[in-house]
Amino acid sequence: MKDFIEALISMRKDNLIKFPKADLHNHAVFSCDRDYLSDNNIDIPKSEAVTDISSLINFARKYIKPLQNNIDGLTTLLNGTFEKCLSTGVKIVDTDIDYKICIQVFDYNIKNFIGFLNTFKYDGLKIRWIIDISRDSYKDEYENIIIDLINSRYFYGIDLTSTENIVSNKKFVNIYRVANSINMVTKVHAGEQLGADYVRQCILDFNPKQIQHGIRIIEDKNTMLLAKDKNIIFNICPTSNLILNYSPSIKDHPIKQMVDFGLNVTLGTDDILFFNSDINDEYLKLYKSKVLTAEQLDNIRKFSLTL
Ligand SMILES: [Zn+2]
Repeated sequence: MKDFIEALISMRKDNLIKFPKADLHNHAVFSCDRDYLSDNNIDIPKSEAVTDISSLINFARKYIKPLQNNIDGLTTLLNGTFEKCLSTGVKIVDTDIDYKICIQVFDYNIKNFIGFLNTFKYDGLKIRWIIDISRDSYKDEYENIIIDLINSRYFYGIDLTSTENIVSNKKFVNIYRVANSINMVTKVHAGEQLGADYVRQCILDFNPKQIQHGIRIIEDKNTMLLAKDKNIIFNICPTSNLILNYSPSIKDHPIKQMVDFGLNVTLGTDDILFFNSDINDEYLKLYKSKVLTAEQLDNIRKFSLTL
């Protein structure tokens, strides 16, 4: 197999796996697969499927949060995530880790939290930890620990996640100001659940370098122009959008319009545990559905490896 383009044209996943890829939209505790969990004696009934955002939240609460809150469970989840990266040809992963783990598991001890994260090292895989700030569980009292984590300079970036605009953006402006001031990779989940107005609001409020999803930006050309002007990168996960009903089909996925407009995009997996679709599947689905050409997909792959 000469190159990635040829691998795509062959439509064989085993060919795609051999080529290096980056996954810049990955959530650390939701990115292993179910087989890995059952191999580690964590069984999730087959009937527990994720079909929309509320079933996703229920699944996470029921099966993953209890694991995440103790070191053994957390270690299993993270090992599963990174083994998945290794087995699918991911060479760079930006993975979101909930700052509340530092509170709940490490009793606010940042040194111990970082020491734990630092134990995950694999040849051929660059792990970049992103501080995951869930809007849903945010309280003002958490701002200090988040700023301290940012100032530790250990983390590669920050990312605002979960229900869009459930908490006013004002609550997070200072956190983004501090992170941008030390040139961290600032990301924000936006434009998945809410429309282009909210994407615009997040761009203006946070000045982020990257937007997770952002697909509803296609509703407003001026916001697309703003994002293009600011060179914002969109980390897009088509299967996640399809399963959670934010895109009607792969064939009609907004990524095509975004690429045609000249926006910077990468492909990510979001939550392999829920969506059962690895990074190779994401490339392959877009190729098979003729959303993007093999050349365009290869350019996206190469671009994501430069970030
Ligand atoms: Zn996400």
